[in-house]
Amino acid sequence: MDTVKEFCEKINISGKIIRNADMKMYTSFRIGGIADILAEPADTRDLAVLAEEARKAALPMTILGEGANILVSDKGIRGLVIRMAGLSGIHVRNSSLRAEAGAKMTDTVTSASAAGLSGLEFIYAMPGSVGGSVWMNARCFGHSISEVLSRVEYIGSEGPGEYHVRAGDFGYKKSPFQSMDAVITAAEFSLAEGRPDEIRAALEKAKREREEKGHFLHPSAGSVFKNNRGFGKPTGKLLESLGLKGVRKGGAQIAPFHANIIINTGGASASDVRELMELAEEKVLAAYGFVLEREILLVGEW
Ligand SMILES: Cc1cc2nc3c(=O)[nH]c(=O)nc-3n(C[C@H](O)[C@H](O)[C@H](O)COP(=O)(O)OP(=O)(O)OC[C@H]3O[C@@H](n4cnc5c(N)ncnc54)[C@H](O)[C@@H]3O)c2cc1C
Repeated sequence: MDTVKEFCEKINISGKIIRNADMKMYTSFRIGGIADILAEPADTRDLAVLAEEARKAALPMTILGEGANILVSDKGIRGLVIRMAGLSGIHVRNSSLRAEAGAKMTDTVTSASAAGLSGLEFIYAMPGSVGGSVWMNARCFGHSISEVLSRVEYIGSEGPGEYHVRAGDFGYKKSPFQSMDAVITAAEFSLAEGRPDEIRAALEKAKREREEKGHFLHPSAGSVFKNNRGFGKPTGKLLESLGLKGVRKGGAQIAPFHANIIINTGGASASDVRELMELAEEKVLAAYGFVLEREILLVGEW
C-alpha cells in the first residue's frame, strides 16, 4: 500500500489521479471491485510519465479503454489502471482519419461520416474506444477494424513507436498488440469518399440492428465467447441448443434474447458472471466436445 501512496504523492500529471476507484463506474458490465489507482492521462506526455513511474515503482499497469470487453474481478485491480478517455482527439486529412486511442469508436465514425468518408460504418454504435477496438481487432457484421486500419502509434517499453499494418498480422479478433507490451496512443484509418446519404443510412442500420438485438437493454460486455467455424453454427446457437438462455446466477443472467451474451440484471458480481461462463464452457464441452474460446477478458485479482 505504501508504494501506492508514494506513487500518488510523487506523480505530477495534468490529467486525473483517483485513489481507490470503483471499477463499476468504468466498465460496461457495471461490475468490478476497487482499483488501487486509476489515472486519466490528458496527453501522451502524461502517459509516458505514468508508464515510466509505474515501471520504476514496480506497480502492475492495466490499460483501460471504455471497459466494454472486460470483466473486472470483485477483488478489484492492484496497481495502476490507466484510463485512456482523455486522449480523444480526432482529425481528418484528405481520406485519412487519425483518432487518439481514448476516442470512442462511435465518435470516430461520426467524424468520418461528417467528412463524407466511408469504411467505418460497420462499427458504428459498438461500445468501445479506438485503442481497445484496435487491440481486440473488433469485428461486426462480417468486417474487422484491421480492414481499414493503416497505422498505429504506441508507447512501448523502449519509448514511442509506429506500426504500419500488414494484413497477415491480424486475424479473427486477434491483433499484434495482444502479444506486445505497448500502449496504443492513436490509430490512422484509410477511408474512401462516400455518398453522405448512403453513409448515414448505413449508420442508422448498424444502430437499429444492435437495438433490435437488445444490446443496450442491460449492462453487458457483448459476446462472451468467440465464434468458431469448426462449430458449424454461431456459438450463441450452440449455447441456445443446450437450454442456457435465461439461466441465472445471482444478479447475472444468460440473456433470454441471446445465449452468447451475459447481462447484469442488477447487483451482479464478477463471480456470478464467471460461474455462468464456466457453466457454458462445461456444458458445451460435455455435449459437443468443443472448447469455447473466451472473448471477454478477465481483469484484476481473481
Ligand atoms: C453491447 C455491446 C456490444 C458489443 N458488440 C461487439 C461487436 O459487435 N464486435 C466486437 O468486436 N466487440 C463487441 N463488443 C465488445 C467491445 O465493444 C469491443 O471489444 C471494444 O473494441 C472494446 O473496446 P474498449 O475500449 O471498451 O476496450 P476495453 O474493454 O477497455 O479493453 C479491452 C482490451 O484492450 C486493451 N486496451 C484498451 N485500450 C488500449 C490501448 N490504448 N492500448 C493498449 N491496450 C488497450 C485492454 O487492456 C484490454 O486488454 C460489444 C460490447 C458491448 C457492451
